[in-house]
Formats: sequence, C-alpha cells, structure tokens
Amino acid sequence: MQSIAALPLHSRHAVVTGAGRGMGACIAAALARRGAAVSLLGRTAATLADSAERLRSAGAERVHVQVADVGDEAVLTQALAACRAALGPVTILVNNAGIAPSAPFLKSDAALWQRVLDVDLLGAVHATRATLPDMLAAQWGRVVNIASTAGLTGMAYVSAYCAAKHALIGFTRALAMETARKGVTVNAVCPGYTDTDIVGDALANIAAKTGRSRDEALASLVAHNPQGRLVDPEEVAETVAWLCSDAAISVTGQSIVLAGGELMP
Ligand code: NAP
Repeated sequence: MQSIAALPLHSRHAVVTGAGRGMGACIAAALARRGAAVSLLGRTAATLADSAERLRSAGAERVHVQVADVGDEAVLTQALAACRAALGPVTILVNNAGIAPSAPFLKSDAALWQRVLDVDLLGAVHATRATLPDMLAAQWGRVVNIASTAGLTGMAYVSAYCAAKHALIGFTRALAMETARKGVTVNAVCPGYTDTDIVGDALANIAAKTGRSRDEALASLVAHNPQGRLVDPEEVAETVAWLCSDAAISVTGQSIVLAGGELMP
C-alpha cells in the first residue's frame, strides 16, 4: 500500500461541513483517500461518529469530529477554531451542509427564509471568513461550495433554497476574483437531483402531496435529467477532490454542473 505521506493531499487539512451523511460523507472519504487530514463538521454527533469510523476503517489516521450548527455564526467560528487546534491550519474548506425545505412561495414564511439563508448561504460565508486567513498564509487553498442546479435556474416550490444557492454562486464568483493571485481557488459544484436523503425526503413529500407512488415521484424527478437517472454522490465527491488537486489551479470562480446535461450554462 502507498504510504499516506506520498498521497497528493497529505499536507492539507480539509474541513467538510455536513459530513455525517449524504454527499458530505462521500466528499470527506474522497479527500481522506487522497491523504488529507479531515475534520467532519455537522449537527449530529452520531452520524459524524459513524462517518469518522468508516474513514478510520479505510485507513485514515487524521480524522476529527466537530459538532456544530453552521447556521449559528458564533458556534461555527468556535467549532472551526477547534478543528484547527486538532489538525492544524485549514487549507481546504468544503461548504456542503444544506437544507432544502419545499413549500409554495406564499407558504414560505420569514422564519423559513431566514433559516435557509443562515444555513445554505451564511454558513458558507462565515466558515470561509474563519478559514481563508490560513489559506492566504499558506498561499494555497481551496474553497468548494456545494451549490445546486437550483443556483443557476429557477425551480418551483423551493424559492428560498433557489435564492440562497444563487447567492452562494455569486459569493463564489466574487471571492474567486479576490483570491485569484493568492494561490486560492473558489468554486461551486452544482449537482442535479442526487441520490441522498434530501431527495428521499422530497420523494416522500411529493408522494404525500400528490398521491403518486414513490416510483412515480422518482420518475418525475429524473425526467429533468437527460440521462434519466439520479446523480451518484460519489460523482460529486470525485469532482470536489479534483478541484482540490494541484492540477485544478486554473479552475476558479466556476460552477460545475453535474446533472447529466440538464443545464448547459
Ligand atoms: P443530506 O443527505 O440531507 O445531508 C445534509 C447534510 O448537511 C447532513 O449531514 C446534515 O447534518 C447537514 N446539515 C444540515 N443542516 C446543517 C446545519 N445547520 N449545520 C450543520 N450541518 C447541517 O443532503 P445532501 O444531498 O448530501 O446535500 C448536501 C449538499 O448538496 C446540500 O448543500 C444540498 O443543498 C446540496 N445539493 C443536494 C442535491 C440532492 O439532490 N441531493 C442536489 C443539489 C445540491 P445532519 O445529519 O445533522 O442532519
């Protein structure tokens, strides 16, 4: 087996938010496979512990678990300081934690909007503010924001989510310009419907509201994707890992769509 010190991300410390399950767990594993020290940050201690155990079983040695709500700036900032204390300066940040509550616009009240903006947009902004100084000091850094096709086009019944993801892409582009000459790239990854709990919840919601079966609801979702399938979270993880490689230094300010051709921006 190749020694960990020979792996391409061995000298990097990656923080992945929402790393207990779904795409975040896959992303953390993909970065650990490339040798990065990985901090798994999220809301739920039990899922984070399971995710950490899977990484350690696969041979990862430097894994830190940090419970925090990314929607609470003070808690998040303290949590990132604890990650840094555990595994050193943070040079990769993957802002993955997200929520996607659905409701018609007139039923999306101010509290729903505030929560979605706090988690899906400001969580990424505050985490970036806390970790960017380490990247600038190292003259090497990677910020990857997990946005969505909903960040590039309109979608019914998720107005707050769409607005937050559009804003996340705007933030990505602006920060990429500020850091372009500093060794730091900032990109967004925009998956279409991906096979995780968020989609499982959406299918249950569609089935409950429309009386359709789960398979019919799934067919209606994959109909948006010209390939006629859900995206696999491992595909998202591999894209993030590539963005974190030295080979991707020229790629910044981009929104990389993984949706089987659904969008061609
Ligand atoms: P998921 O399976 O529901 O996982 C979401 C993760 O985010 C969980 O680990 C969750 O932690 C964490 N999280 C949610 N709110 C948080 C908070 N306030 N603080 C900390 N962690 C929080 O969803 P997913 O599909 O993997 O989604 C990951 C990202 O991809 C999200 O940003 C989502 O918007 C985006 N995305 C998803 C799809 C899709 O179709 N699945 C498509 C495009 C974009 P807990 O375990 O504690 O709940």
